[in-house]
Amino acid sequence: MSGKKSVFPSRRDAVLITSAALAATTVIGRKQARGDIMSIKPTPEDVFIVVDVQNDFLPGGALAVKNGDQVIQPINALARKFGNVVQTQDWHTKGHVSFASAHSGMKPFEVTKLAYGDQVLWPDHCVQGSQGAAFSDRLDLPMVQLVIRKGYHPNVDSYSAFVEADHATKTGLAGYLRERGITRCFVAGLATDFCVAWTAMDATKAGFDTYVIEDASRGIDTLGSLAAATRNMDAAGVKRIQSQAILGA
Ligand SMILES: [Zn+2]
Repeated sequence: MSGKKSVFPSRRDAVLITSAALAATTVIGRKQARGDIMSIKPTPEDVFIVVDVQNDFLPGGALAVKNGDQVIQPINALARKFGNVVQTQDWHTKGHVSFASAHSGMKPFEVTKLAYGDQVLWPDHCVQGSQGAAFSDRLDLPMVQLVIRKGYHPNVDSYSAFVEADHATKTGLAGYLRERGITRCFVAGLATDFCVAWTAMDATKAGFDTYVIEDASRGIDTLGSLAAATRNMDAAGVKRIQSQAILGA
């Protein structure tokens, strides 16, 4: 053996190879069972929409999403696979209608009725120009082509990057994407059960083939909102994938 490298893998290498092969088999088996697409190579007709990765939604922020910072690394990696990347930014006026503080006697996470329907009330967050509304400085997304701000009308919230919560006022994003020849949307960010889900569902409504990248998103999960959002996305035809489908392609 001395001086010559064996052509056979060492015992340790063999163990590593075996466990890697087993892991691959498990993943493939699970994906096939769920009918997922195994790998997706983004094309010029695809856009990656990065939703609301802002300081107020990250640990330490005014409306922190649990483990929200865990989306940053996969989003930075995913963005490098796309020729088109768009970011959204929650961007509220002071005293915005979605803030519990704007409704006397109401507390954050309670639900109230507004002219356009039920509204979950939130702690004050993402006020225009504030540090909380700024993007995380750990995001590394110099390739972003458009930042779409939403929720800037004082009396209307907007979880979706396409249509405000009145289900009528459009942000212009669908028109922008269509003019650019985009046909598929890949959505990730914060929070899965609100801005990510509503953005994805409106993307399908607008005619885009739409995917949510689950492990590059995190949810708030208040009053069963995560399970409800998952059901609603499935019913709307939004496909759910893991980042490896794109990163491994
Ligand atoms: Zn908001």
